[in-house]
Amino acid sequence: MTSKTLYLTRAQLLAELGRCLNCKTQPCMNACPVNCNPREFINKAKDGDFSGAVEAITRYNPMGQTCGLICPDKFCMHACTRSIIDFPINIPRVQATILEKYRTCESAAHSKHPFNGKKIAVIGAGPAGIAATSELVKLGYKITLYEGFEKIGGALNLIPENRLPFSVIDKDWSFINDPEMIEMHLNTIINNPVSLLNEGYSGVIIATGEPDSIDLGVEGEEYALSYFDYLRHPEQYKTKGNVAVIGGGAVAVDCALTAINNGADYVEMFIRRRISDMRVTNEERKSLLDAGIDLTSMTKIKKIGKDGEFITLYTCKNHFNQEKLEEIPDTTIARPGFSLIIRAIGSSAPRQNDSDVIIYAGDCKHGGSTIVEALASGREAAARLNSRLSG
Ligand SMILES: Cc1cc2nc3c(=O)[nH]c(=O)nc-3n(C[C@H](O)[C@H](O)[C@H](O)COP(=O)(O)OP(=O)(O)OC[C@H]3O[C@@H](n4cnc5c(N)ncnc54)[C@H](O)[C@@H]3O)c2cc1C
Ligand code: SF4
Repeated sequence: MTSKTLYLTRAQLLAELGRCLNCKTQPCMNACPVNCNPREFINKAKDGDFSGAVEAITRYNPMGQTCGLICPDKFCMHACTRSIIDFPINIPRVQATILEKYRTCESAAHSKHPFNGKKIAVIGAGPAGIAATSELVKLGYKITLYEGFEKIGGALNLIPENRLPFSVIDKDWSFINDPEMIEMHLNTIINNPVSLLNEGYSGVIIATGEPDSIDLGVEGEEYALSYFDYLRHPEQYKTKGNVAVIGGGAVAVDCALTAINNGADYVEMFIRRRISDMRVTNEERKSLLDAGIDLTSMTKIKKIGKDGEFITLYTCKNHFNQEKLEEIPDTTIARPGFSLIIRAIGSSAPRQNDSDVIIYAGDCKHGGSTIVEALASGREAAARLNSRLSG
């Protein structure tokens, strides 16, 4: 999808608004981790009150436009009653389009308390850290936001620009950023969060994500590039040759599509389980088909070898034995001729427990999730810290 098609046209927007059945039970809102209320913003937009629609979206969601472009279809859209008649309303795109076309400082303004005398440090400027910051500022806290990377957004920066331009993350942030209440330190890694309590902060929120890409645990691991390194600097790994992507989730899909955009002649994904088990959206499935990416399912990587400039994958087949995935003996084959192998089988971070005024949020607490779940976790951490600090 090119950036031109990221948003609905006015005619498409009106058509989507007109399809809403105005359900009393609001299943879409109940399915949204941040309790965004599609029925409310759709009704306001239908009445021509776009300012009210913007206010309704941003009330609980500080990154509403970014969510509108990348929220998976398993939340509000999955719950949409309209799918019983034909197909669900494209709620995320409606949300993104309303914010892109109608958001102004006035429409996105929410009530804020004056400075309450307390300072909080937030570590990590991904969705969870941003949501915690936005929530705490509304409650009157001054925030110092420490981010190890050169820009905000966290793992969102690994999403290809044609799916999520950085300007959209920046736009959401521009409506949260209040220089009087938020001090930002980019390129600053905090190794000892507890020490911040001796520097005048009343509490610390840690939202550092899951930075460690999981290893395959096989011989020749060093010949496979991690998804993190690949997606952070795809321009450094341009190749016309054959590319293998190991993994079958949304991150692996982004790697495979990026490899095609990077000039690869042929891209093959190696997936441990069945194609029907892939945890990807319908849109992602369609993109794989459109790009002509080969999917090799029920396959385990046994070893990786290097032969001159090419890399060989040694794979064997899996099968289900009473629902347990098992390797089928004597099925190992060599798959030579790859120029690049990318490993995208997940990420991890050591789990930590909250202490009194040090609270974890987002993927570093709950494991790899989605933007809207990380936002919900950041808001919840902010509310918990506030209740502890206000006794
Ligand atoms: C390739 C890819 C595609 C994705 N696609 C989607 C999608 O389509 N839809 C969706 O909903 N979700 C998607 N996700 C998942 C989503 O991006 C994450 O769930 C979300 O970003 C997690 O937010 P977070 O704030 O918990 O952590 P992160 O976004 O990982 O942010 C953590 C931040 O903390 C910083 N940090 C870490 N340690 C320190 C330290 N010691 N000091 C200072 N800063 C530190 C990091 O630099 C980072 O900026 C995708 C993820 C990836 C990797
Ligand atoms: S934030 Fe995401 S899940 Fe929630 S209503 Fe908006 S698009 Fe749907």
